[in-house]
Amino acid sequence: MTDIINILPDSVANQIAAGEVVDRPASCVKELLENAIDAGARRIQLIVKDAGRTLIQVIDDGKGMSTTDARLCFERHATSKIHSADDLFAIRTMGFRGEALASIAAVAQVELRTRQAGAELGTQVIIEGSMVKSQGPCSCGEGTAISVKNLFFNIPARRNFLKKDSIELSHIDEVFRRVVLVNNEIEFTFHANGRLLYDLRAGNKAQRITAVFGMHGTEKLFPVQEQTDVVSVEGFIGKPEYARKTRGEQYLFCNNRYIKHQRLANAVESAYRELIPEHTYPSYFLFITIDPSRLDVNIHPTKTEVRFVDEHAVLSILRAATRKSLGQFRLATEIDFNPSSELDLSPAPKGYIPPVPTVSYREDYDPFAVSGPQAAAPTARAGFDRLSWGNQHTQQDEGWADYRGRYVATTDTLASSAATAAPTQPAEQQQTVLFADGDDMETDVGEQPQMPIAYGGRYIITSLRSGVVVIDYRRAEERIVFEQLLSRSRHTSAAGSQQLLFPLTCTFGPADSALIDEAVTLMDDMGFVTEHADGASLVVRAVPPCVRESDVKDIADCLVAGLRETQIQPEGGYLEVACATTARQVACHAVFPADAQAMNAVIGSLFACSAPTLTPSGKPTLITINEACLDQAFDRI
Ligand code: ADP
Ligand code: MG
Repeated sequence: MTDIINILPDSVANQIAAGEVVDRPASCVKELLENAIDAGARRIQLIVKDAGRTLIQVIDDGKGMSTTDARLCFERHATSKIHSADDLFAIRTMGFRGEALASIAAVAQVELRTRQAGAELGTQVIIEGSMVKSQGPCSCGEGTAISVKNLFFNIPARRNFLKKDSIELSHIDEVFRRVVLVNNEIEFTFHANGRLLYDLRAGNKAQRITAVFGMHGTEKLFPVQEQTDVVSVEGFIGKPEYARKTRGEQYLFCNNRYIKHQRLANAVESAYRELIPEHTYPSYFLFITIDPSRLDVNIHPTKTEVRFVDEHAVLSILRAATRKSLGQFRLATEIDFNPSSELDLSPAPKGYIPPVPTVSYREDYDPFAVSGPQAAAPTARAGFDRLSWGNQHTQQDEGWADYRGRYVATTDTLASSAATAAPTQPAEQQQTVLFADGDDMETDVGEQPQMPIAYGGRYIITSLRSGVVVIDYRRAEERIVFEQLLSRSRHTSAAGSQQLLFPLTCTFGPADSALIDEAVTLMDDMGFVTEHADGASLVVRAVPPCVRESDVKDIADCLVAGLRETQIQPEGGYLEVACATTARQVACHAVFPADAQAMNAVIGSLFACSAPTLTPSGKPTLITINEACLDQAFDRI
C-alpha cells in the first residue's frame, strides 16, 4: 500500500488561509489598520494606489516590533495577543488569530519597517509569496510602516476577480469608515492615488461621525444612551425624516469592533416601524459594550460576525434604547400645527351644479331566470382563491387591442396630462399603432372610455370588453416613467428638461468620486443636467419632466449605491437598470390621480408603453378579471 497523505508546505497553507482572510484589497487594509490600533498607535496613515492593487501602505506610531518579532510576525499562528485558550474569552484586541500577516505575505510583496521606542535602529523585512527576500537593520521612525505591493501577484485567478478600481476603492472606504468611527481618539489620514480623502483629527464620537459623513452629520441624529448590567449602548440614531432608500449609514459596533448582526440590526429597525415608510432605512451608529466573556468573536476569520451569550437581553435592550431615544427626541418635532391630511370641506362655489350620478344596468337581467350551476346553494366563502387573474398578458392577448383602442385613442386626455406621463411617441404615431391593432379596433374606436374607479388609494379599476381591469397605480407609473426615461436616453436626453430653481447637491463619501462620475453620465443620459463638483458632490441642475425635485436625492443615492454594489454594471444593460432604479423611486412617491380624467391619462400612457403589463422588474402592473373568472368564482358558492 502506498501512503498518499502529505503535509502542505507553509507557503501553500498560507495561500489557502489567505483565501479566507484577504479576499480583496479592502480586507488587507482592514487587517493592517487593526494591527496598528492593537499596537497602540495615536496616528495612522493609509495610502493606497490603484485601489490597493499596486500598493497598500499603513504607517503607524505604535509600539513597533523587535528584530525577532519583525521576522516572526509573518509566521502562521504568530500572535502576541493570546497565549492560551483561556485568553480567547477575554479578548480586547482586534486581532488574535495570528493569520493576517502570514496570509498577506503569501499573496503579495511585503516590506516591513519597524522600530520600538528607545531602539536606535529599526528592522526591515522584505518578503514575497511567503519567501523572505531580505532582512536587516534600517533607520526609520518609531512605530511600524508596512507596504503591501502587487496584491495577488502570484494568484492571477484571484487578481482577475477584483472589480474595477472605483468599486474596490469604495470597499476600502467602507472598511476605513468602520475602523475610524469607533477609534475616534486616533488621528487618521487616507490618501488614494496621491489625493487626500480623509484627514481626521482626534475627537469625540459625534465629531468623528460628522467628519466622516459631512458637515451636518449630527444634525440628522438623535443621541442614544442606555446602561444596564448586561450591556451598555451608546451612540446616535438617524431622525426618521432622514431615513434613506439605501442601507448606507448603518453601523453597529461591539467592544470597539464593527460587527454584522442581522438580528441586532432588525431590532434597531423595528423600533422605527410606523415612523418611516416601507423600504426606507434609518441611519444608526451604535456602540455596544459587553463583558468579553459574554461574547464570541471567534466564529469567523474576519471576526465581523459575533455571537452573544445573552442575545435575547441584548436585543431587547437595543430595541428599547432606540425606542426611548426616538420617543424622547421626537416629541418636540411631533406637534404638527398644520396637518395636511385634513379633509377639504370647503363649500362648493356658487352656481355649482353637482353632476347627476349615473347608474348602468342590464336591461335583460331577470333575477328569477337563474338556472343551471348559478342556482347551486351558496357556501359560506366565495372561492376567489382559485381565480385565474390572467396577469400574464402579452401583446398578442385578445384584450390588448381593446385597451389601446379605448384609451390610446383619447389623445386629447393624454396631451393634457404630460405631467403624469408623456407618451413615448407623438400622438399621431400612436393613432397609427392603434389602427394597426386589428379587428377589435373597429368596434372600439369612437367608444367613450368607461369611467374609471379609484379603489383603496392604490388601484384604478376600469372595464373593457375583455373584462374588468385592475391597475396597480404605482406599478403602472413605474412602467410609464421607465419607458419615458429610456426613450429620452435614446433620442433627446436633456431636451425639455426642467431647470431647478436652486440646484440640488447630493453629498457622498470622498472615495466615491469615480462612482459619482458614472452616476453623472447615467443621469445626463436620462435627461437630468448634473455635474460632479467638489470631489464628493453631485449637483443636479435640471430634471426630466417625469421626475419630481423631491425625489432627486433618493434617485442619486440609489444610483450611486447600485453602482457601488455592482447591481448596475455596464455589461448588464447599464442604462436600463439605471432607468428602472429611477422609475422605482419616482413611482413610490407618485400621487394617486385626483379625478377620472387623470386616471384615464394614466391608463392611456400605460397602454402606450411597449410592455404595459409588467414593471421593469417583471411584476404585473394589472390584472384582468374576465367573465370566465367570475363565473368560476360564483359557481363555487
Ligand atoms: P494578530 O493580529 O491576529 O495577532 P497578525 O498576523 O495580524 O496577527 O499580526 C501578528 C503579530 O505581529 C501581532 O500579534 C503583533 O504582535 C505584530 N504586529 C503586527 N502589526 C503590528 C504593528 N503595526 N505594530 C506592532 N506590532 C505588530
Ligand atoms: Mg492582526
